[in-house]
Amino acid sequence: MAQQEDVFKKIVSHCKEYGFVFPSSDIYDGLGAVYDYGQNGVEMKNNIKKYWWESMVQMHENIVGLDAAIFMHPTTWKASGHVDAFNDPLIDNRDSKKRYRADVLIEDQIAKYDEKIEKEVEKARKRFKESFDEAQYRSTSPKVQELQEKRDNLHRRYQEVMNAPGGIDLEGMKQIILDEEIVCPISGTRNWTDVRQFNLMFKTEIGAAAEGSSTIYLRPETAQGIFVNYLNVQKTGRMKLPFGIAQIGKAFRNEIVARQFIFRMREFEQMEMQFFVKPGTELQWFETWKQTRMKWHQNLGFGAENYRFHDHDKLAHYANAATDIEFHMPFGFKEVEGIHSRTNFDLSQHAKYSGKKIEYFDPDTNESYTPYVIETSIGVDRMFLSVLCHAYEEQLLPDGQTRTVLHLPAALAPVKLAIFPLTKKDGLPEKAQEIFNDLRFYFNCKYEEKDQIGKRYRRMDAIGCPYCITVDQQTLEDNTVTLRDRDTMEQTRVVISELQQIVDEKVTITSLLKKLA
Ligand code: ATP
Repeated sequence: MAQQEDVFKKIVSHCKEYGFVFPSSDIYDGLGAVYDYGQNGVEMKNNIKKYWWESMVQMHENIVGLDAAIFMHPTTWKASGHVDAFNDPLIDNRDSKKRYRADVLIEDQIAKYDEKIEKEVEKARKRFKESFDEAQYRSTSPKVQELQEKRDNLHRRYQEVMNAPGGIDLEGMKQIILDEEIVCPISGTRNWTDVRQFNLMFKTEIGAAAEGSSTIYLRPETAQGIFVNYLNVQKTGRMKLPFGIAQIGKAFRNEIVARQFIFRMREFEQMEMQFFVKPGTELQWFETWKQTRMKWHQNLGFGAENYRFHDHDKLAHYANAATDIEFHMPFGFKEVEGIHSRTNFDLSQHAKYSGKKIEYFDPDTNESYTPYVIETSIGVDRMFLSVLCHAYEEQLLPDGQTRTVLHLPAALAPVKLAIFPLTKKDGLPEKAQEIFNDLRFYFNCKYEEKDQIGKRYRRMDAIGCPYCITVDQQTLEDNTVTLRDRDTMEQTRVVISELQQIVDEKVTITSLLKKLA
């Protein structure tokens, strides 16, 4: 675990050193849980968005795009339930003055029991070697049984307070924290305040005060922009059910605990698609979208073992099925995407609050009804993080040296091709520039002539550039260059006129989409 945390720290500093992600307003020492994407980060982020957008909008005849504003009429958030219920339970430690999410403290405690149990099992596995029967050990070891009982008890109490009939039982939560003797990691004390609810939406004012300003919110999710435009899109696009509306955009949440770099941010970006279906068919579509989205992730080639579904047993009151796609990050399996069957809750609520009829007239059956909705919702930044975590490697080379390399899928890499003259003389730079000028029309290229060739390769490995070409003396004679592959480091000689096709085949989003189809 400690080793994994070290790797994560290295990834965070690599992101800064190589222009992927910077703390926001860095010269002022940053702003909590807000980040900026640098010269390489923005390219990779755009590629991720392109992969998502094209797989949704371009590859599906019945899915169209939308770009709704961040500011929305304040009633939107009343109707959606966010004003009343988009809360996290928070608790302060009086000694350290640090604020925590009470539910996270309890979930961490459950995870601690799980870790202790796994440690016992691993110890026994080492002790008994080949003769070890894991199932038997788990069901008979008094130590494991005791831990399991404590864990299950805690889990049961936690479920009870979270699902209390009148909303989360805040006093019950505090009692659990006290009974479990959970301490503040900073002060080490149990001097806790009561648990309070905290709304995660950022507020601001619209209009000058003199004209009568009113409070509006920065949207905490992009989905509501889609729901309020359902009628506009359905009518003007003459859309027939089932159909989807996709959107990429910023969302804002005043997260209490901002941890794990770009995993939990206060300003982040979502890629959401709401798929409108006939009532009664929603669970079938939920299943279809679960599989479609998993395929999209696995298509990047990171290995199926790094993904899992986490089906929710506790459903929001409006949902009738929900699952998360989790990815194996250095800090455990974590949610990257949520897939929810949201019934007709949102459209009905907006119909109620706006007084407008929000329905679909079904020409096949001559009936009108409120469509049901399947939502797929993925965070761009979390996706970005999962790609980086999987790609990062400190590789020991046969000659004893190490190199830091990002094995990014070529289609997501910020720079696709680096072009180097071997030396700065004999007309090599001019020839390399000529190739650069030709190829930059097709993909993102980089020209570099500074430093030894080995150093230039390393710099490109560190930003995950899949190909480098070197122009040498022979190039001037026969119009060939060496093409170096980032992962294998193998070099082959290729004719300049074939370069575009060779590289293009590997680096375009189309190559990913074709694999998906
Ligand atoms: P979590 O339980 O981790 O807070 P959530 O269940 O509230 O996430 P959703 O409301 O389902 O998340 O949002 C959909 C997606 O948006 C998430 O799967 C995640 O990828 C992304 N997301 C949500 N909150 C954040 C955040 N604070 N920072 C970055 N991405 C986020």
